Amino acid sequence: MCGIVGYTGSRQAYPVILKGLKRLEYRGYDSSGVALLKDGKLNVYKKKGKVADLEEAMIGKDIDASIGIGHTRWATHGEPSDRNAHPHSSSNGKLAMIHNGIIENYAQIKQDLVKKGYQFTSDTDTEVLLNFIEDIQKNNDHCSLEEALRIALKRVSGAYCILLIEQDNPDTIIAARKGSPLVIGIGKGEHFLASDASPIIEYTKEVVYVNDYELAIVKPDELILKNLGNEKVTPYITKLDMELAAIEKGGYDHFMLKEIFEQPSTIYDCLRGRLDAKELSIKMSGIDQHVNELMNANRIMILACGTSWHAGLVAEYIIEELCRIPVEVEYASEFRYRNPIVNKGDVIIAISQSGETADTLVALEKAKENGAFIFGVVNAVGSSIARISNAGAYTHAGPEIGVASTKAFTGQLAVLMMLALAIAKHKGTITADRYNNLLLELEGIPEKVEVILKNAGELKKMADKYKNASDFLFLGRGYNFPVALEGALKLKEISYIHAEGYPAAEMKHGPIALVDDQLPVVFIATQDTYHEKIVSNMQEIKARKGRIISIITEGDTVCPTLSDDYFSIPAVDELIAPILTVIPLQLLAYYVGTAKGIDVDKPRNLAKSVTVE
Ligand code: GLU
Repeated sequence: MCGIVGYTGSRQAYPVILKGLKRLEYRGYDSSGVALLKDGKLNVYKKKGKVADLEEAMIGKDIDASIGIGHTRWATHGEPSDRNAHPHSSSNGKLAMIHNGIIENYAQIKQDLVKKGYQFTSDTDTEVLLNFIEDIQKNNDHCSLEEALRIALKRVSGAYCILLIEQDNPDTIIAARKGSPLVIGIGKGEHFLASDASPIIEYTKEVVYVNDYELAIVKPDELILKNLGNEKVTPYITKLDMELAAIEKGGYDHFMLKEIFEQPSTIYDCLRGRLDAKELSIKMSGIDQHVNELMNANRIMILACGTSWHAGLVAEYIIEELCRIPVEVEYASEFRYRNPIVNKGDVIIAISQSGETADTLVALEKAKENGAFIFGVVNAVGSSIARISNAGAYTHAGPEIGVASTKAFTGQLAVLMMLALAIAKHKGTITADRYNNLLLELEGIPEKVEVILKNAGELKKMADKYKNASDFLFLGRGYNFPVALEGALKLKEISYIHAEGYPAAEMKHGPIALVDDQLPVVFIATQDTYHEKIVSNMQEIKARKGRIISIITEGDTVCPTLSDDYFSIPAVDELIAPILTVIPLQLLAYYVGTAKGIDVDKPRNLAKSVTVE
């Protein structure tokens, strides 16, 4: 959360920073701001609201500078407002800083600084760290900013990616990270700094991913990396494998819609080169090189948050069914603070779109210490979770910018299904026929997604009909129970309608009390082992006059008679069905959100890439 951008070179810094902030807005949009440095003059401009509000406020302002830093905020400490917006200026006005993360011991430091006479103009933890740095400089013979930062960072706890500029240092940005991402783009006589590569790719493809506990001293012609012990670290330069088109809307009204419609190709890309239905094989280096660890796992624990956690639940059903290995799925945020039993021989699967989810990252460190083998299922290449994992597989969904995750989820499912099939084959827990069939089914998924997307208009009509409901219930069984959770989450996120997902059979233990003639109940009722059971659940809702929307398999003649509205999807093996059944629910949420006039790419209070706990 929070997007940060920095530039030092010979171009005008402001346009580079502004464009970068727009690309990073998925990370937060409570406020934004820039600090520009020219001829020893530090100009700071900031504004509550989206980056477009800052852009407007900047009209007529002095933007002439070739070094600067910019920030788009997801507030943690202090309400979204102009005064809490970043960049913050230090008390003596000589330093400007932006920050992504949380300084956990800020209160104690603030108290000490207040006693020394410091006054604060914001409620943020960031301003506390900044004045702390200023104070260290003052008390250490006006030591260099780099030195002061190093001393400060040894005293703070929490997470940060920070960028600092200093009035008396006309071309240098000092940066540091722990727990929040930082990428540095290397140009000719210029450097770009950002939370991810999207603000950088149009200028250079050569980047350095800064590691935790590293400090960067960045000038137009020089990049020095050091650890907190003041030892130089050799920057490891990576080539970006990303095109500009991947981060633009390409004619769609919203990134979310573009990303939903990209799913035939993103799923195809995820399977490509890995699954070969003709050869009847799955080739994934992350699996092939670690077959023994995976196959002989005593148990598998899946750690994730949000939508990724739902993908984990689907994986639990599939892995237990096909591989006969016990699986537990846990919220990373819970796992990390309890005292879980993790032993050598346990396999942890970490699922994260951004690969930067703070809770998941810390949970993994803990599990790794206990000897577990970590398998990462991550979308963002080169991200922290990808790097900390012992092995893994990328989802290859391309940059996901819409705050509500869509294509990353189906990519996660595709990877997890291939993982389960590969383990089952090695373990001999699946028959050759079942394996071959599932491979063929999986290979055919992109085409079936196309079929669903062609009928998106039906879901738009349904959205218009139900958009004024105040609550929704989503029900599913078996492999489709996690999809019910995901459908409810999607709707909540981008329409602000209260929605609950439930196992269909559990509904009678509570939520059925909510049913009346106003409540839409979405059933995922495709043809599977549970079909008759879910039809009974539909009857129970119908008897209480609930409004039934069902997602069914084409050709089903029973469910339409019980439903107010239904949407058909192509027939598919029940184990693979979640990749298809979730798509109408993504579209339904999208159309309800847009029908209500909500900016679905930037829903209130949310942000993507959750680098705070
Ligand atoms: N803690 C800082 C603030 O509230 C940064 C928040 C973040 O990175 O999400 O302003």
